[in-house]
Amino acid sequence: MIAVFALAGRAGTEKKRNMTADFIDAHVHVWSGPAGPYAREPGYSGPAYKPAVFTPETLLEHARPCGVSRVVLVQMSFYGFDNSYMLDAIRRYPDVFRGIAVVDDSHPKPQDEMLLLAHQGVRGFRIILESDPRTRLATPGMEAMWRCASESRLVLGLLAGPDALPSIDAMCTRFPEAPVVIDHMGRVGSDGQIRDADVRALSNLARHPEVCVKISAFYALGRKQAPYDDLAPLIRTLYEAYGPKRLMWASDSPFQVQPPHTYRGSVDLIRNRLAFLPDENREWLLRKTAERIFFGTRTGARAANIGAPMDIPCKEPFPPHSRRRLLGHGGRGPSSPKRSARTHVLLQR
Ligand SMILES: [Zn+2]
Repeated sequence: MIAVFALAGRAGTEKKRNMTADFIDAHVHVWSGPAGPYAREPGYSGPAYKPAVFTPETLLEHARPCGVSRVVLVQMSFYGFDNSYMLDAIRRYPDVFRGIAVVDDSHPKPQDEMLLLAHQGVRGFRIILESDPRTRLATPGMEAMWRCASESRLVLGLLAGPDALPSIDAMCTRFPEAPVVIDHMGRVGSDGQIRDADVRALSNLARHPEVCVKISAFYALGRKQAPYDDLAPLIRTLYEAYGPKRLMWASDSPFQVQPPHTYRGSVDLIRNRLAFLPDENREWLLRKTAERIFFGTRTGARAANIGAPMDIPCKEPFPPHSRRRLLGHGGRGPSSPKRSARTHVLLQR
């Protein structure tokens, strides 16, 4: 599908931008209501997120008019280690969704569940690094996860702030083959201040060829106001450090679609603004990078020195998801409630 986008030029003239649409949003959460078959984690005490319900269909109502046809779903925190809702969405829309799941790394063999989930459209695993990231990354389960990611070309999706970047750097040195995607530009600017030292630390991670960055969550960074032009220098620095083939746009909906923010406001920053970006590289940010990493190899797996083609099937009609079976492979173990309580402390976007 080819779409030609018109945009206002600097002098008020219109410029035609030839771009292939079919964009990919690399980070969205979906969830059902509190009642119903998808149970939220017992004892969950985190924030009451808005909206009350955000289904795959509602998401697509926002995404499709903006040229976004595929989405990477990220497991929502209040479901704990039960990825059922996300897996069911992937099964219902196998050409549209891939997933980033959460597994219990306190389980003796979290890699078993990682590989099981990889056959159900999951391509990555979320690791939330809040306080004391060095200790958090030093567990045997974490070692197993990074080793599995390295060997099976599965992504580790890291939600972390600038304080965690040195610990991530150390892990990337130990596991140079592990594909890593840093969420939301390392949350640089989440308190409103975009600090040079934080930008440098995030840029320095580019020395690891397998590290990519999500250019995302504009509603939460810097001035937190559309059209988000204040984020342009940060994005440009990351672009110069990583190149377009290791950056991917994401909305982080539904948080991005809470007024006054909009889905279109997010995609438009990459599609129509950022004057330093040539059109062909906008396409890497808006589609090609995420396509290569999460949807297979149509764009050429080795173009950015990332990722051998994954041989994990993703287009079969997925077998019906069995929650019981998953739990048997590292679902909620005895130590899970403790871990869950800890990971729910912070805003998990
Ligand atoms: Zn998020």
